[in-house]
Amino acid sequence: MALKLEDCINTLCPWSGDPVSEESLTLYKGKVVGFCNVGCRDKFEKAVVLFEDCLNVDTKD
Ligand SMILES: [Zn+2]
Repeated sequence: MALKLEDCINTLCPWSGDPVSEESLTLYKGKVVGFCNVGCRDKFEKAVVLFEDCLNVDTKD
């Protein structure tokens, strides 16, 4: 599924304050969130993946 800028819930990159770009979108909690460039997006994705891994470890019985 291709992410679309029109579905993005934010207009400015949280890192830089620059406008989000269509090639720098990702999903967070089922919503499309955007960044000004793929470097900013990848930094965010890394953090989310790490935290979700931690949470998954926690909830295993
Ligand atoms: Zn950015």
